[in-house]
Amino acid sequence: MTDEAAPEPLFRDDVSVELVRHSAQDSDVLWAARVSTAGEQSLEEAHKDPERSKGLINYLMRDRHGTPFEHNSMTFLVSAPIFVFREFHRHRSGWSYNEESGRYRRLQPVFYVPGARRKLVQQGRPGKYEFVAGTAEQHDTVVTVMEESYRQSYAAYQRMLEAGVAREVARAVLPVGLFSSMYATCNARSLMHFLSLRTKDERATVPSFPQREIEMVAERMEQRWAELMPLTHAAFNAHGRVAP
Ligand SMILES: Cc1cc2nc3c(=O)[nH]c(=O)nc-3n(C[C@H](O)[C@H](O)[C@H](O)COP(=O)(O)OP(=O)(O)OC[C@H]3O[C@@H](n4cnc5c(N)ncnc54)[C@H](O)[C@@H]3O)c2cc1C
Repeated sequence: MTDEAAPEPLFRDDVSVELVRHSAQDSDVLWAARVSTAGEQSLEEAHKDPERSKGLINYLMRDRHGTPFEHNSMTFLVSAPIFVFREFHRHRSGWSYNEESGRYRRLQPVFYVPGARRKLVQQGRPGKYEFVAGTAEQHDTVVTVMEESYRQSYAAYQRMLEAGVAREVARAVLPVGLFSSMYATCNARSLMHFLSLRTKDERATVPSFPQREIEMVAERMEQRWAELMPLTHAAFNAHGRVAP
């Protein structure tokens, strides 16, 4: 038996992304790149001549010299539905993850329900999908059906916990719309690769068609990163949003 009272379900239409730690600035790219020509003096060279620095970052981005963009680190705390994490964890290179456990703690009833502006209707063929706004009735149906279904599955989970069943067994009934949380650590190069695939942007030379909810996470990460590394971010946009 569990002595914890069942919490009321909470329904969210957003995601959250917090930058919890970072060691990332444009000068990290410069000193890493300048070791090629300045050897052990490259650290001192990093802050000299801003125009030359901008030029060097642009050149590295344009010619896809990627490794100087790896000498930095950003750790994000992300809260998003499990279906977003399923897509996120496919990004293997230059990423480290730790996610909350459904074995060691009772999962909280926080569920994703699309907001009124989320496009609901898919048109076209695979690879060429377009999403258009649904009607007010379609949106009402989505909200009603999802909330009802989430309540039922969480009640089933709770019932099993109350019967003494282990969390790792009971969680099987919970849906992918349940929120989870994780720390995700990356560097600018791996983040650029992620952004190139998980955002839709007119400046991209190779367009991608991500699911809106992972794009919401990507947009928040990009905002934080752009504040830390404005020259690198500008060069990424200027060169078609292709990871070097
Ligand atoms: C719009 C969209 C739709 C998708 N649809 C599906 C789908 O229907 N089904 C599905 O399973 N996945 C799907 N994916 C996931 C996709 O196949 C990739 O797993 C995901 O985008 C991560 O990309 P990545 O492998 O390039 O990234 P990472 O794993 O971070 O790898 C980065 C880069 O490292 C190199 N690399 C990494 N591992 C290897 C390796 N083993 N061998 C050689 N090179 C390697 C590659 O150059 C790779 O691009 C989709 C992704 C997007 C963006």
